[in-house]
Amino acid sequence: MLNFMNIIKRKALSIIGNALAKTGTVLAVRAWQPATFFEVDVHFPNMDMSSWEKVQYIKVNVEEGVYRDYTPAGWDEDTRTCTLYVDGVHDGPGSRWAKMVQQGDEISYIGPSRTFHRPLEGKMIVLGDMSALGHYLALQQLAGDRALTGAVSVIEEGHLASFYDYFKWEVDAVKQQDEGGFEALLDWTKDKDLTDTEIFIVGHIPTSIQLRKELKKRKDHPNTIRVQGFWS
Ligand SMILES: Cc1cc2nc3c(=O)[nH]c(=O)nc-3n(C[C@H](O)[C@H](O)[C@H](O)COP(=O)(O)OP(=O)(O)OC[C@H]3O[C@@H](n4cnc5c(N)ncnc54)[C@H](O)[C@@H]3O)c2cc1C
Repeated sequence: MLNFMNIIKRKALSIIGNALAKTGTVLAVRAWQPATFFEVDVHFPNMDMSSWEKVQYIKVNVEEGVYRDYTPAGWDEDTRTCTLYVDGVHDGPGSRWAKMVQQGDEISYIGPSRTFHRPLEGKMIVLGDMSALGHYLALQQLAGDRALTGAVSVIEEGHLASFYDYFKWEVDAVKQQDEGGFEALLDWTKDKDLTDTEIFIVGHIPTSIQLRKELKKRKDHPNTIRVQGFWS
């Protein structure tokens, strides 16, 4: 019965998707080493970025009737290009798509849609796993000169080095020890003063909820804690 429902859902999505979908062209793909994380540069001539004061996401058609959410980062209005940062450390249609997509391929997508994350007045601290990297690069771009601090949890040793080689910003990479990076991310916050901060948490949903719970107990409490769950 569940399988039958899934088939119907896929067919419906396929029909709706075909009606709403726009396309982009892949300009380049860079795999980090080991190849479980991907930067996909895309030209999106018709992407509507009118709500680009908040971080946005698009639904990418990763296989017939299957869509996965990814975040445009490094948006360049003149060339209408951006990069999607795709975590492919697990097995799933989105992860498999990222491992196969090539320069010149056409991407079909729906959106963009807005998240609730935008730069805020206080000192901004970001926490999340590698699926959140594009989201935080987009937030940093929107924040301009105001530096984000925080931590992204990384599973692969090789990716820790790439993180520091590729990005010159004040967000740290911390070694992930559990499914969503809970221990490493919480540990990062321990010696930080959270007074008057705006905290963003993105990524593995149970980790995000648990982190929020822990940070709410702090005496030097942040102004806000904004959670955007990505996967579970
Ligand atoms: C608004 C929004 C924006 C997003 N932007 C991005 C983005 O820019 N980059 C990005 O990589 N992801 C992003 N995500 C998350 C991404 O859409 C999901 O992780 C998606 O489920 C991956 O699809 P999949 O087909 O590879 O795996 P699925 O079929 O969904 O899941 C297969 C299995 O893998 C596990 N899994 C899923 N994602 C991960 C992960 N990252 N790490 C470890 N295990 C995982 C699941 O728990 C499941 O057991 C975003 C999600 C949302 C809601």
